[in-house]
Amino acid sequence: MVSNTMPVDTKAVKKGVLIDLTKCIGCRGCQVICKNWNNRAVKKTVLTGNFTNPLEMNSETYTTVKFFEEEKENKMSWNFVKTQCMHCKDPACASACPVGAFTKDPRGPVTYNAEKCIGCRYCMMACPFGVPKYEWEKLFPVIQKCTFCVDRLDAGLIPSCAKTCTSKAIFFGDYDAIVAEAEKRIKDNPEKYVNHIYGKEEAGGTSWMYLSSVPFEQLGFKTNIPKRALPDLTWASLSKVPAAVGTLITVLSLVAYFRNRGDKDKGE
Ligand code: SF4
Ligand code: SF4
Repeated sequence: MVSNTMPVDTKAVKKGVLIDLTKCIGCRGCQVICKNWNNRAVKKTVLTGNFTNPLEMNSETYTTVKFFEEEKENKMSWNFVKTQCMHCKDPACASACPVGAFTKDPRGPVTYNAEKCIGCRYCMMACPFGVPKYEWEKLFPVIQKCTFCVDRLDAGLIPSCAKTCTSKAIFFGDYDAIVAEAEKRIKDNPEKYVNHIYGKEEAGGTSWMYLSSVPFEQLGFKTNIPKRALPDLTWASLSKVPAAVGTLITVLSLVAYFRNRGDKDKGE
């Protein structure tokens, strides 16, 4: 049995997270604590008739809980889906980034160095899950996304969303134990779960995985993602694009250099 109260060595390889959607009650505690831990600002939103708020992740919201309304036997019911970076085993974002702003941590997190970012947005195009978000409103925008709370892992703590989930829908642990737990839940409760661990194979496998009682396509999951990693979207293939793109990257790199220098000057 996987439990967030059992001790886990957060500094050892390799970790995973299981989100069991059958347990999520849509309280959005994970969304709030994620903003709090990562010091993200509030962005104004508008009511659209859907309780999902904001409707999608954005540069200030690394995780958002989506609300899906369903009518079953003349009764309304709800399904809730927490979305965030999947922390791919072989991340397309890292392969596509021309300046190496993304790093795959051996424990699982795909980390991101904003100081290196030149704002080219190749990672946004490469990510099969639509995760990296751009700071559209800023003068020198960079990309933002879930960090797997790698700073907490470094400090021996589990990710803040897993820590705060009172309904025990988010489990953090050793990757193999997480997969074994997901398989056991499906085997022990075949009538309850869809026979699929989303993320176990998608895009070559991800560190974050989901279980659901509702077919994943009904909950907004992309179900046409290939099982293999996405090597076609590597910088090697992007480097074959015209020289003008290389020039653009050089210009953007200079912009990033002066942006970072300006930030450091202000801090001195
Ligand atoms: S989900 Fe997207 S942003 Fe996250 S690691 Fe995978 S490719 Fe990168
Ligand atoms: S792991 Fe951390 S950064 Fe990622 S969604 Fe959870 S709380 Fe937010």
